[in-house]
Amino acid sequence: MSKLVAGNWKMFGNKAMISDIKKIDQHCKEKTCEVAICPPFPLISAAHEQTKNIKIGAQNCHININGAHTGEVSAEMLIEVGAQLILVGHSERRQDNYETNDIVKLKSEAVHRAGATAVVCIGETLEERTAEKTLSVLQEQMLNSLPESVTPINTVVAYEPVWAIGTGLVPETDQIRSAHAFIRGFLASTYGAEAHNVKILYGGSVKGSNAKEIFSISNVNGALVGGASLKSDDFIEIIKAASNSM
Ligand code: PEP
Repeated sequence: MSKLVAGNWKMFGNKAMISDIKKIDQHCKEKTCEVAICPPFPLISAAHEQTKNIKIGAQNCHININGAHTGEVSAEMLIEVGAQLILVGHSERRQDNYETNDIVKLKSEAVHRAGATAVVCIGETLEERTAEKTLSVLQEQMLNSLPESVTPINTVVAYEPVWAIGTGLVPETDQIRSAHAFIRGFLASTYGAEAHNVKILYGGSVKGSNAKEIFSISNVNGALVGGASLKSDDFIEIIKAASNSM
């Protein structure tokens, strides 16, 4: 399966940084893994217009197509301006915006309805890992935030331990391996054989220096990258590691 390296710019970036996206796009002119960047909403259209080889995504969407929801943006609107994938259930949204599994499920369905790919984020907190609840938390999140409509085309699952996001901490190789094997098993038992082709990304402090090792772990089909996606040279190092690991 080809690997996917997706960058999450969070609430960073400006118009001048479209040049970084162009540089990444140029790098991907040669055959590389699949690459996506999710900038803040106002940059999606320009990023889409300036790229040919990578996908542009969004970081969130509303559950409805349109309506009296001031300040919200629908999946359909995002697709119209160039988004092909949409992150849902990122831990920062679960924490800052009180997004529950039920809401994440409705958002995933909204992304599917609109015809884009939902990148559904799951992962345990440090307290949950310390209490040895990691796998039960992942199970609960997948049971309640993944809709019936999941296919390998419309869904990517991103395993992001909350304690590894933006902290520089990365789980042990065995911890990533066992979480990804568990997620693969859940997907296969819920959605059947086809689920073997659903990509499972690892996210949490991925950098050029640790990407090669992470990509060598079984059932790691790519990475969701925050901080290191904001500097094109750093992000390109991760793309190279994923491309070489295929
Ligand atoms: C993220 O925002 O999804 C993420 C994984 O961030 P970072 O790479 O900075 O840990």
